[in-house]
Amino acid sequence: MHTHIMPKNPPKWSEKFGYGGFIHLDHHKPGFARMMQDSKFFREIESNCWDAKIRIPEYEKFNTQYQVICTIPVLFSYWAKPHDCLEISRFLNDDIAEHYTAYPKNYIGLGTIPMQDTDLAIKELERCKEIGMKGIQIGSNINDKNLDEDQFFPIFEACQELDMAVMVHPWNMMGKPSMEKYWLPWLVGMPAETSRAICSMIFGGVFEKLPGLRVCFSHSGGSFIGTIGRIEHGFNCRPDLVAIDNNVNPREYLGKFWVDCITHDEKALQYVIDHVGSRKVCLGTDYPFPLGDLEIGKFVEEGPFSEQVVEDIMQNSTLDWLGMTVDDL
Ligand SMILES: [Zn+2]
Repeated sequence: MHTHIMPKNPPKWSEKFGYGGFIHLDHHKPGFARMMQDSKFFREIESNCWDAKIRIPEYEKFNTQYQVICTIPVLFSYWAKPHDCLEISRFLNDDIAEHYTAYPKNYIGLGTIPMQDTDLAIKELERCKEIGMKGIQIGSNINDKNLDEDQFFPIFEACQELDMAVMVHPWNMMGKPSMEKYWLPWLVGMPAETSRAICSMIFGGVFEKLPGLRVCFSHSGGSFIGTIGRIEHGFNCRPDLVAIDNNVNPREYLGKFWVDCITHDEKALQYVIDHVGSRKVCLGTDYPFPLGDLEIGKFVEEGPFSEQVVEDIMQNSTLDWLGMTVDDL
């Protein structure tokens, strides 16, 4: 339920919009491209990052039939002018729609929306629904604003209303400028970002007000589940700081949202399952990126988990989160 894809030939948005900061691709040799942010190198990618057909045999090797696809967070473009971000979102979403239309037995799509503008975001959310997407992917913060900000609530409300699932992915990592070395934004910043998103949605009362909203958090909820004891203790000892918008103990929300299984560690995964239940843990991979679980759930199948737990992770939890059943496949 957590894989990334992007268009092979995105326009040079900076030329179109007249300002920089956007990602374009430099196809410098067959099958490979450099993701470039203006003239700055961001990441080398291979054709499995844009070619839906090439991907299928790669994940079929691991007995996987479906991938839920969404864009790469660096393409969210929340920082851009809202109408420009809407245009980019539409382009990315149409590309994803082409893939699940061409291969309906192999792909399910999540859209991206211009979160920095509530009205435009809802407009594109509605279009995503119309073109057959099952949900959206959003960032763990929106231009450094947390997900409990009032401006995001109508978007979550619309997701609940439209029966659209939400995946929260870390990006724009806190502390990045002061910890570039050792890949720390990815290793330290990302888990913290995801915990920031979960705490914001809990303490801001988003889950409390929208009990039908189905949210899945990347990378097993980041550092949230591992630090739930501390978070609950903080809630109890300093309610004047923590419980100002929602007086429900944060532990109560364990089992009310979904997480993926990307822990790379069977004991960590067992701990996650103990806290949220196997029916809330989805098979995620972060394919095709190297920090992901590119052996697609092998550690789950080989780990000390019951058949039921494995079946929940491999299929049932993702279907629940997407609001689907086996008959929809
Ligand atoms: Zn990812």
